[in-house]
Order: sequence, then structure tokens, then C-alpha cells
Amino acid sequence: MTASATRDSAHDDLAPIRESVRALCADFPGEYWRRLDRERAYPEEFVTALTKAGFLAALIPEEYGGSGLTMTAAAAIMEEIQASGCNGAACHAQMYTMGTLLRHGSIEHKKHYLPAIARGELRLQAFGVTEPTSGTDTLNLRTTAVRDGDHYVLNGQKIWTSRAEHSDLMLLLARTTPREQTASRTAGLTVFLVDMRAARGHGLTIRPIRTMMNHATTEVFFENLRVPAEAVIGREGEGFRYILSGMNAERILIAAECIGDAKWFVEKATAYAGERVVFGRPIGQNQGVQFPIARAYIGMRAAELMVREAAALYQAGRDCGAEANMAKHLAAEASWAAADMCVQTHGGFGFAEEFDIERKFRETRLYTVAPISTNLVLSYIAEHVLGLPRSY
Ligand SMILES: Cc1cc2nc3c(=O)[nH]c(=O)nc-3n(C[C@H](O)[C@H](O)[C@H](O)COP(=O)(O)OP(=O)(O)OC[C@H]3O[C@@H](n4cnc5c(N)ncnc54)[C@H](O)[C@@H]3O)c2cc1C
Repeated sequence: MTASATRDSAHDDLAPIRESVRALCADFPGEYWRRLDRERAYPEEFVTALTKAGFLAALIPEEYGGSGLTMTAAAAIMEEIQASGCNGAACHAQMYTMGTLLRHGSIEHKKHYLPAIARGELRLQAFGVTEPTSGTDTLNLRTTAVRDGDHYVLNGQKIWTSRAEHSDLMLLLARTTPREQTASRTAGLTVFLVDMRAARGHGLTIRPIRTMMNHATTEVFFENLRVPAEAVIGREGEGFRYILSGMNAERILIAAECIGDAKWFVEKATAYAGERVVFGRPIGQNQGVQFPIARAYIGMRAAELMVREAAALYQAGRDCGAEANMAKHLAAEASWAAADMCVQTHGGFGFAEEFDIERKFRETRLYTVAPISTNLVLSYIAEHVLGLPRSY
């Protein structure tokens, strides 16, 4: 099995897109990412290059200036970014926020925002759902939006709002009807498209959170922030449903990133195992070294099939909640297993900064926790697919 065979396992008809993403990523080698990682700096040049090449507008329809590609193509773009050793976390929200905006935004919203986003003049990179007190229990979130004339007044706090400092717009979920006054458990939450340019310093405060990898994540505070009523996406009170369809897109795209990471780890390990000679032979000649690499490859290939199935269902407009969750779960487990294997295969060099493995190891660790943790995926499958009683 050669390195390129590892890379090309998708067998899809997206080779030209994959090749152009790889060509772009070749200009952003390990040294670029190592420097940013040390400084915890945002990859401005990389995001600008992806924007100029049109990749971040992949899901925006052509009539609004985007490329009008499918979810499968968008997933291939994210996968190739990761498989090239780059980090798409700096910009993946620009794709997955489309899941909510395209399906539930009004024609006016789309006309107003999408062409500017496609041209790279506006950045929609922030997705504000998680809160410090409610965590995964989204229906218990506490940020409120109260109608006041032709505005809403926002108060509350979000946490882990990644890229908020590098985005002009934020897709935000807030409570517009107190929980005890709603007809159903999931009603009363509303999605807003908040223009953060005008809001910063006038009721919106963003504070960075330093994490174990370079992720540009933040906490965001709302204090009597006034947003126009036109910022509401879809209908007031129905936001939870809209956010869920956006979350399926997010899970599929992040699963594709994990597939890319797993390919990168398998490729690195395979190359090293073939070159590194100890006891007079390549370490990869030992089954104890080659079997874990083969196992990681098999895990990646199996997860890749589920990612493709989830993306195909999503773009056909069909229900893909189970497949999106299973794809994210399998792909995150596969990338983490491949990361662990890659460190082990490299021995001491797996820990050396210049090999990039320890950086990718830290980066890929995130995905069994975010955007949804393993336990919550398992709960979803137990309840919604297997019909077991709801556990929380
Ligand atoms: C670097 C980073 C970037 C992020 N970016 C964003 C972003 O851009 N926007 C955004 O909105 N969010 C973002 N998140 C938040 C992320 O989605 C959450 O961290 C994740 O969903 C887990 O939620 P939590 O941290 O509140 O954990 P909690 O909900 O507190 O859960 C903690 C642990 O308990 C487990 N658990 C909780 N309840 C149950 C249960 N009933 N049964 C079994 N196990 C349970 C969970 O699985 C988890 O392992 C980000 C997080 C990180 C770390």
C-alpha cells in the first residue's frame, strides 16, 4: 500500500477539486503551522488563500456568487486540507453555518449576505450555541433575546465560540420564550445572525480562551446588546430545529476532517516504518509495527464510507441525523486511534515538534468531545435509532 493509495481511497469523482486543494495546501507547510501553533496565532494567510480560491464558498449557490457544490464536495475539501497537514478548524464554520442559513434564511438574508461572504468581504465563521452552565443540554441555555420594538435585546454568555475574533457575523441561538411558557420542550429558541462588527464594544465582549491546540476559541458576553428584528433566521421560537440541521452539516464536515487527519497519520507512519532501520531492518517489517498501521487504515476506510453516506443523504435533503452522528463518531475514533498509532510508530520522534505529529495529535483529540461528545452520539443512537428510553 503506497502513500498515494492511502490518500486516494475515496474513489469519488472529485479528483480535480482534491488536487487543487492539495496544490493550495502545499504553500502552507509544517513550518507555517508550527509557528502559528507556538504563537497561538490565526492562519490569516491560509484562510485568505482558501477564500480567494472559492473553497470557503463551496456550499453557497452559484446564483449568490458561490461555487454551488454539494456536501460531498465540501467534505472532500475539508478532508484534503487535513490530509495535507493543514488545519481547517480555522475556517470550517463558514461551510457548516450554511446548513442553517441556506435552508432556513429568507431570500433577503441570502441576497444581503451570501454574495459578500462568497467574495470574501464578510466572514461568517462563528457559531454561538454552547454555554458554560448548560453545556451539552442546549435546551437549557440561558442567553435571552427580548423583543423591544423593532429590535431584540440580548443578554447572556456563550463559551467555546471559536473564531469569534476573526468573524464579522455570528449565528447565535438564544431563548425568546421562557421554557415554562412554551408548548413543547424544543420550542422557544431562536436563531439570530448577529453582525459583530457593530456590536463589539456596544454590548458584545469577546475574550479568547487558550487551549492545548491552536483553535482561536473564545467566550462571548452579551450585555443589553440590541440587534435588529431582521436578524432573526426563519421563525421566532423554532431555532432549535434550524440549528439541528446546521449541526448535521457540521458533524459531516468535521467527520471528513477526521478522515483527512487519519490519512495523514497513516501516511506518515507508513513512510517512517519503511525508512527507519533498527536491528538491521525497517521497523515496518515487524508485524508489531505494521499491524497497528493496518488497523488504523481499516478504521479510517470504514469511517469514510459512513461519512460519504451521511453527506449523500444530507445533499438529497433526507433525514441524516443518525448517519451524521455515526459518521462523526466513527471518524473521530479513527483519527484518534491513527494519531496514537503514529506517535507509537515514531517512537521518540513522535514527540518532536518538527515532525508535526504531536501538533496534529493535539488537534485531532478535540473531535471525540466537540462538536458533540461520544456519549451524546451513543445516547442519540440508543434513543432515536434503537428506541431505547431517553437517558437524560
Ligand atoms: C476547542 C473547542 C471549540 C469549540 N467550538 C465551539 C463553537 O464554535 N461553538 C459552540 O457552540 N460550541 C463549541 N464548542 C463546544 C463543544 O461543542 C462542547 O464542548 C461539547 O459539545 C461538549 O459540551 P460541554 O463541554 O459543555 O460538556 P458537558 O455537557 O459539560 O459534558 C461533559 C462530559 O459529560 C458527558 N455527559 C454529559 N451529559 C451526559 C449524559 N446525559 N450521558 C452521558 N454522558 C454525558 C459528555 O459526553 C462529556 O464527556 C467547542 C469546544 C471546544 C473544546
